Amino acid sequence: MSEMGLVVVGAAGRMGQTLIRTVQQVAGVRVAGAIERAGSPFLGRDAGELAGVGPLGVPIVDDPLPVFARADGVLDFSVPAATVEFAGYAAQARIVHVIGTTGCSAEDDARIAAAARHATIVKSGNMSLGVNLLAVLVEQAARALGPEDFDIEVVEMHHRHKVDAPSGTALLLGQAAAAGREIGLADNSVRVRDGHTGPRPEGAIGFATLRGGSVVGDHSVILAGPGERVVLSHNAEDRAIFARGAVRAALWAHGRKPGLYSMRDVLGLA
Ligand code: NAP
Repeated sequence: MSEMGLVVVGAAGRMGQTLIRTVQQVAGVRVAGAIERAGSPFLGRDAGELAGVGPLGVPIVDDPLPVFARADGVLDFSVPAATVEFAGYAAQARIVHVIGTTGCSAEDDARIAAAARHATIVKSGNMSLGVNLLAVLVEQAARALGPEDFDIEVVEMHHRHKVDAPSGTALLLGQAAAAGREIGLADNSVRVRDGHTGPRPEGAIGFATLRGGSVVGDHSVILAGPGERVVLSHNAEDRAIFARGAVRAALWAHGRKPGLYSMRDVLGLA
């Protein structure tokens, strides 16, 4: 089978550059295009040169449609408004769309789900093997350690440039805990605490967000009970773990029927 041609959108970003380096290293895939927003200072630059892997003959451009039309898939770690647009274009081109972008609203997610009628979409708040395995363990722990005795708190820290909170991964882990407890996350989460909050509601899933420095992504799920605590943690040391997961998702999705899939499907953890 010929190589899978992948377009990297947000190609000048932290993840975009990591994706270009990773695609270069993995067998069976090639960089088929690179997209940035209109007005970006990086338009016209060679995507490989910018990412530090030498020239690839792939200029960064701002018009996705003709690039998508010649590709097999899109790797997208950008911003929600752009991701929703890209999902529509991926549906038109009937190709794979791997979405790592976080901070999507319910409305964004509905539009992405609609695009998944024609595009094969894999979306996850964290593309690493370790975090997806952690989510399975969190679900088991939350089921085994009930709300009458154990309180669940999700703590995360990221670099100072991150714009959304809690992180997509913290929400993914919160969802896993809620699934273990058979409750809805939206109705049972405490996203911030400030001032006189009153006592902790039983069964709530709490979130705490730290920002600073260059931290790639640290997450802990704490199950705090009477006289003991269980802490399940993951520390990301290198963005390449997300990029490798995204490429693996693209290869898994290639030739699969349209739909909305998760990283748990890709890794066989569903
Ligand atoms: P970043 O460095 O800001 O990169 C985002 C890139 O997208 C920027 O280059 C930005 O350009 C570009 N962009 C914005 N609007 C665009 C448009 N309309 N068309 C094309 N490109 C556009 O951020 P990052 O750290 O790489 O993170 C990106 C996203 O991935 C975030 O949502 C982050 O939370 C998420 N993430 C997910 C995972 C996971 O495993 N799921 C892992 C890491 C990060 P400008 O800067 O010029 O606006």
